[in-house]
Amino acid sequence: MAPLSAAAAEPSSPRSIDVLHYEARLRPDIPARRLDGRVRIDFRVLAPARTLQFDAGELAVTRVRLGEAALPFERTGHVLRVHVPESLRPGSRGQLAVDYAGTPRYGLEFHPERDEVYTIFSTSQWLVCVDAPDERATLTLSLELPAGLRSAGNGRLVSVRAGEGGRSLHRWRLVEPMPSYVYGFAAARYAAASERVDGIGLHYLAIERSPDELRRVFGDTARMLRFFGMRAGRRYRGDYTQALVASTVGQELAGLSLLSEEYGRRVLDDPTAQALIAHEAAHQWWGNRVTCRDWGHFWLNEGMATFMAAAWIEQRFGPQAYRAQVERWHERLQALRSKGADHALVYAQWTSPSGDDRAVVYQKGAYVLHLLREQLGEEAFWRGVRTYSRAHDGRSVTTADFRAAMETTSGQDLGPFFREWVEGPPLPAAARR
Ligand SMILES: [Zn+2]
Repeated sequence: MAPLSAAAAEPSSPRSIDVLHYEARLRPDIPARRLDGRVRIDFRVLAPARTLQFDAGELAVTRVRLGEAALPFERTGHVLRVHVPESLRPGSRGQLAVDYAGTPRYGLEFHPERDEVYTIFSTSQWLVCVDAPDERATLTLSLELPAGLRSAGNGRLVSVRAGEGGRSLHRWRLVEPMPSYVYGFAAARYAAASERVDGIGLHYLAIERSPDELRRVFGDTARMLRFFGMRAGRRYRGDYTQALVASTVGQELAGLSLLSEEYGRRVLDDPTAQALIAHEAAHQWWGNRVTCRDWGHFWLNEGMATFMAAAWIEQRFGPQAYRAQVERWHERLQALRSKGADHALVYAQWTSPSGDDRAVVYQKGAYVLHLLREQLGEEAFWRGVRTYSRAHDGRSVTTADFRAAMETTSGQDLGPFFREWVEGPPLPAAARR
């Protein structure tokens, strides 16, 4: 799925610093639904600045330090402004330590009845950070948890050690720079299953499923990752953890996907219902590694992941299963058109998207990729996708980058196609199928 937060509404703006790394330590109190945190933010100065700006959600910031020096700061809504003593020189580096606490109303879900805590996007509600899709950094996340809990996090679990007060310290490390909206974690008394395929550590967690059931729910993961890696021209890197939590939309986090227990049950009953597992896995490339530069180009994340999940379904269950997905997208598009809610795939503002706007970027976005596939033919289309994915691996993109890659590889002028389907309101219905 995708971030739903208010933070997602903010357009990206020029920033005076580039965050390189977050070193975070969080202590969630599940019964009290409370969080204490400290984050060290390593940054490089891009432009002279007397104030540095971060997203802090509704967290109460108690202290900010640069080295040993405490710095004055102020809050304006969700924004934290830190005043630095003298203008920082471009090119120089710094480390800021921020102490905070909070009882987040969203972004972090506490389920005391399940002894569970997990994130739902809105990263700045539990981590002071730069919450923008074009800001990438590495992350080390240490979670102080009650003994006996298992955790799921970004990247790789480095260690679990005894901590203070009978707690355990779980340390997760993400070594690839990623946008902060794909940071997240989950913790509970999970049952777990693991396997190692193609050098990738695959981990599955849930409370309500046995290890054996988990292996059935997520049994196609390795093949999916192989398929998407082939389509992207880039192999999956690192470990991949999937956890079923109390209740969530599907979440594509870096090296981690969170899905709901209810969905896991559905896949167990019907193994063909794995489109959401595939959607989140596809995001590991399209969304996480190749990321829309701002939310106006969100279709590059969501249309792509929706389309790629259907491409996997086609590979796994045959062309008819793929056609059924295309048919559903087309029906959704027709419904949008009949109520006058169709829209260009690129949004000037993605401030408070309606359900219809989301259908535009997800279902219409996927449908447009299907049409492009038909127009270019198998060979040219997939070569274009591969070129685009490789060229922008680890980068932020706009629709122009995607179009350029598809035009270069196919040798076709896609101006008319993009004007009709991507940039503008499409021609009246029935003009195209
Ligand atoms: Zn998605």
